[in-house]
Amino acid sequence: MPRLAIGLATSIWALAAPLPAHAACEGPLAVQILGSGGPIAEGPRAGSSAIIWIDGKAAAVIDTGSGAFVRYGQAGARFEDHRVIALTHFHADHAADLAAILNSGSFSDRSEKLPILGPQGNAHFPGVGAHLRALFDPETGAFRYLSGFLDGTTGKPMLVPVEIPAEGPAAPFADALTGLTITPVPVQHGVVPALAYVIEIRGKMVVFAGDQNEFSEDFVAILSRRRPDLLIAHNVIPQGEGQPRGLHRPPSSIGEMAAAINPRLLVLSHNMQRALVRQSEGEAAIRQAYQGPMTIADDLSCYAL
Ligand SMILES: [Zn+2]
Repeated sequence: MPRLAIGLATSIWALAAPLPAHAACEGPLAVQILGSGGPIAEGPRAGSSAIIWIDGKAAAVIDTGSGAFVRYGQAGARFEDHRVIALTHFHADHAADLAAILNSGSFSDRSEKLPILGPQGNAHFPGVGAHLRALFDPETGAFRYLSGFLDGTTGKPMLVPVEIPAEGPAAPFADALTGLTITPVPVQHGVVPALAYVIEIRGKMVVFAGDQNEFSEDFVAILSRRRPDLLIAHNVIPQGEGQPRGLHRPPSSIGEMAAAINPRLLVLSHNMQRALVRQSEGEAAIRQAYQGPMTIADDLSCYAL
């Protein structure tokens, strides 16, 4: 019996052991990739998500893809610190953990409204307002028990959807408290209304290209020679024949985009296994046009600005 008691005590202690330390992303300004993967569950990569850290606070969350919830906790993000959540589009690998992260935040003491940027809808996809109603509408929402997010009742902060038209220049979102501005730029992603985001803070610029195909010419024209500190592009499909086309830039097109925009660092994220297994071929295709610095993000990768 004493042995059993010791065994039980040991296992209970193990359960109570502290979690691993937060994967701290230090410095006054930094970008942290929460999820560096795509829509297929094929390894230790969550779907697309990232945080803009300002003075140690998770000021902005860009996308909330599948698995982002876990990385968000590992990163030590606090819901009270968000000034905005910006969603590029409503594919599940970019938005599936939105409800999970908001639900987590409902346990915080935040009462301040939270703007949610996202695209306007079309015949194929709801816009950000309709997406939030589909989640939280008190009559019809999938998570109607969290309907306080729509009207600010039951102790929840009210979400304020900001719908960005799929065409033409959009007004920047500006946060007076931090000085952060986020300019949405519509991009081409098949029939999916989709946005890139240009983040500007204290003279630094970070561009989330989002999911976009090679016909996103306006995006390249707008960013041409702007020399952002980071250009985060999506490494989804290999170069070569017989690969899926139409939704994403192949590596050669990523290279052309990067050459035109000329970032201080090109970060490849949304890394799918089918691209990674042929990465040397992909990098060679990128290098045809772009010779600047380039790196591949993992989950929780941190880039100080
Ligand atoms: Zn997508």
